[in-house]
Amino acid sequence: MHMLAIDIGGTNIQFGLFQDGELLFLKTIATPKEAILEAMIAASETFLSDYQADIAGIGIASAGIIDAENGVIKKASNIPSLVGVPVKAEMERVFNVPVFLNNDANCAALAEGVYGAAQGMSSYVCMTIGTGIGGGVVLNEKVVNGRSGFAGEVGHMTLFPGGLQCPCGKKGCWEQYASGSAIKRMIAEHPDGAIADYSPQQVFECASDNAACQAIVDQFIDHLAIGVTNLQYTFDPEAIVIGGGVIDSSAYWWDKFVTVLDEHAPIEVIVKQAQLKNHAGLFGASLLIKNEGV
Ligand SMILES: [Zn+2]
Repeated sequence: MHMLAIDIGGTNIQFGLFQDGELLFLKTIATPKEAILEAMIAASETFLSDYQADIAGIGIASAGIIDAENGVIKKASNIPSLVGVPVKAEMERVFNVPVFLNNDANCAALAEGVYGAAQGMSSYVCMTIGTGIGGGVVLNEKVVNGRSGFAGEVGHMTLFPGGLQCPCGKKGCWEQYASGSAIKRMIAEHPDGAIADYSPQQVFECASDNAACQAIVDQFIDHLAIGVTNLQYTFDPEAIVIGGGVIDSSAYWWDKFVTVLDEHAPIEVIVKQAQLKNHAGLFGASLLIKNEGV
């Protein structure tokens, strides 16, 4: 039996046909501005008929805050026309199989547990450091959604009360201090104008022989370590898996981060680098049916 996995992003929608956990075929379409569900249904029908696939279920990963129980996207700034659309109900009506919808970060977390850095673990936290800090929490092999779908949105833990304004409406959120955009802000604010044009990647690369870059990297590492320690106290996971854009530069900061974490945390914290890059959401979507216990 086959499984259809779909990953809805602001730019593209990916479709993957899986069999026994293996991705057989992949197709990508551009995300339309309007009528996204209709486009998704049409693309799915063509995709399945092209391969004459008989599917047992559909798993969908989507950007945004998801009501997994009802299969509806509650909030998504990059796909606003899909907010409130009954995605699960409509897909189930058309394809007549169980359909599950979850947040793309939660799906990526599930995928790390089966294919990536958290293999063999039943409880772990995945965080993605990009423009902000996203995350997914897996406890006893189940992804945690929470009451309103906010579980795992770890970037909005308050690190500094009354601190920097976050787009979420709060001040002092962790992602304002330990994300890619936080590094960009630190570059812009640094009194040494010589690094003003540096990218975060260049700051990491130059840290070993440039004091200004080193200061920024040290601050990033400190703020990352504080939040990661908070996560360990909250969930006591087997590991905290860290992915996202800054992991591409990990050769320049990871060892120091592990040392700082050891000094900072009186409890053991095991951190791992995420292994899945492309298609993590799609692989995770294919695992949703199993995760939901069907
Ligand atoms: Zn926030």
